[in-house]
Amino acid sequence: MDTKKKALIIGCGIAGPAAAIFLQRAGIEPVIYEAMSAHDDYTGLFLNVGRNGIRVLKELGADDIIRKEGIEMNVMRFCNGKGKALGELGQFTGEPQGYTVKRGLLQSVLRKKAERRNIPIHLGCKLVDIQMADDKVTAFFDNGTSVEGDFLVGCDGIHSKVRQMLLPDAAKPSYTGLISFGGYADNPRVLLESAVQQMVFGKRAFFGYLGKKQDEIFWFGNQSYPGTPTRHELEAIPQTEWRRVITGLYQDDAEPVMDIIRSTRGEIGIYPIYDMPTQPAWHSGSAVIIGDAIHATSPNAGQGASMALEDAMLLAKCVRDIDRIEQAFVKFQALRRERVDQIVQYSRSLGQRKHATNPIQVFFRDLMLPFFLKSANKDAHGWMYDYTIHWDERICI
Ligand SMILES: Cc1cc2nc3c(=O)[nH]c(=O)nc-3n(C[C@H](O)[C@H](O)[C@H](O)COP(=O)(O)OP(=O)(O)OC[C@H]3O[C@@H](n4cnc5c(N)ncnc54)[C@H](O)[C@@H]3O)c2cc1C
Repeated sequence: MDTKKKALIIGCGIAGPAAAIFLQRAGIEPVIYEAMSAHDDYTGLFLNVGRNGIRVLKELGADDIIRKEGIEMNVMRFCNGKGKALGELGQFTGEPQGYTVKRGLLQSVLRKKAERRNIPIHLGCKLVDIQMADDKVTAFFDNGTSVEGDFLVGCDGIHSKVRQMLLPDAAKPSYTGLISFGGYADNPRVLLESAVQQMVFGKRAFFGYLGKKQDEIFWFGNQSYPGTPTRHELEAIPQTEWRRVITGLYQDDAEPVMDIIRSTRGEIGIYPIYDMPTQPAWHSGSAVIIGDAIHATSPNAGQGASMALEDAMLLAKCVRDIDRIEQAFVKFQALRRERVDQIVQYSRSLGQRKHATNPIQVFFRDLMLPFFLKSANKDAHGWMYDYTIHWDERICI
């Protein structure tokens, strides 16, 4: 008789397949349900996986390809729009702070790992309802199907349906006032320095770039944008218009900023930056929520994917070591909450510096930042990157 508990995993982004693999290792039978009708391994731009996230990938046997294909980053170097150096953060020796990878690559690596472990992935299953009764949970999908399991894990991203149904009073994602845009440039003139991410506080907007191949320089920009735009609204604006706007933003900044933008291959990706304030509860009955669905962080600290990966591993450990599922969820939230809150706050505070465009703010930022960067410990981000979860360590109630 099969006595394995069945977990319904909603969403096959980053958190979903990672949680499924760890839960399987913990003796659970996971099944993934994804809203999209086909896998799209080219959606989104790129993201950072911090060395804390790389450690989780290593546990999944998925770190090698990310180290090989990703762009390592040991040092962040800051300058202003005139090209004046403001300082740097990090050190060239030791393990990189993280790797920047195309989001699609990370997603496909995790998904293929799950497929290789025979974890079923059902596409075209957009969750629309959840019902719980007698220690069982039933998920209903927009294609008219439903499925019953012992517990459900919401991994359905920032606009999570699971969160809306489980925790209707939870705070909504909050727009940070910034949009992000970026792409890939092909430019032999740009000086690329190995393991360095260049950060430019431009006259009107923030700009960053890094790369290990001249024909694929990753770049991104951030700019204040009014209202509360959705991704679809921003994407509906024609590319020619975005190119015009972005050119206007950086036209007075020192090279290579405009040179990189001009040599962008393909489309410029655009999305609004939302994050999510602290949620009092991350679970209800036999359902729990992880990743962006419960604590989305802005990309400024480069920790969104790493937080989702850490969640996935720790949740599986809690389910493995604590018999009652509700107690496992209580423990999971207790172990994660403080760290996640700290990272969401820290990332938001980094974004606020990017808003500075009036001359007085800019004057003080350029004056203070070099002192701040100099006084910052060489490994100022150790609290973020050195966090380690050990699979073999038992969790106690
Ligand atoms: C299309 C897309 C592009 C992105 N691009 C970037 C980027 O360029 N840079 C960056 O830093 N971050 C990007 N992100 C966000 C980044 O992936 C996350 O911040 C982070 O990796 C945490 O992952 P997650 O698994 O919690 O959420 P996500 O990666 O958002 O994954 C959520 C998954 O759930 C699925 N889903 C949503 N609703 C339902 C539903 N009702 N039923 C079933 N499935 C559902 C989604 O289709 C998606 O596959 C993107 C996310 C998405 C979905």
